[in-house]
Amino acid sequence: MPASMDLAAHIRNVPDFPKPGIQFKDITSLLLVPDAFAHVIDTFKARYTAQPIDAIVGIDARGFIFGSALSYAMHLPFVPARKHGKLPGKTIEESFELEYGTDRVAIHDDALHAGQRVLILDDLLATGGTALAVARLIQRLGAEVVEAAFVVELPPLNGRKKLEGIPVHSLVEFMVD
Ligand code: AMP
Repeated sequence: MPASMDLAAHIRNVPDFPKPGIQFKDITSLLLVPDAFAHVIDTFKARYTAQPIDAIVGIDARGFIFGSALSYAMHLPFVPARKHGKLPGKTIEESFELEYGTDRVAIHDDALHAGQRVLILDDLLATGGTALAVARLIQRLGAEVVEAAFVVELPPLNGRKKLEGIPVHSLVEFMVD
């Protein structure tokens, strides 16, 4: 296997960021290696060519990096799911729980339409709260969530369980909290 395809080796672990106890999985180190970044996009492209989709929803902010690259590669619409207050048009919003308090995510209400087959894309699946809120937004617009895809998954945080009913696909798993 070429070194660039060993994706786990390109993801830097930053202990205690943004706060003590968190093992932050930093994908910016992967982005510095064009062959590794291309391998991520090519792998997703092969999967969603076989399992057709109509649009990609990327999650603020690192989901924009992978989501827009995949949209370009597949010539599909890209829809940003943004933090509350950032999108200029008419939006719909969903709240989700953080460790302390809640946050809100939004999409433009005309970005998707009923019947579209949509892929959710983000850099990392932890507890699944963020992706679940985005899935609800997509479903509220009448579109179908075909799958939620991630470069990294942290299985001990049980994100798949929270996303029950939504297929989940990830490229790299780290067995840490
Ligand atoms: P969650 O809603 O718990 O699944 O958290 C997922 C979101 O938080 C993603 O957008 C990630 O970018 C970010 N995130 C959560 N935990 C980590 C981590 N350990 N390393 C890097 N990003 C993380």
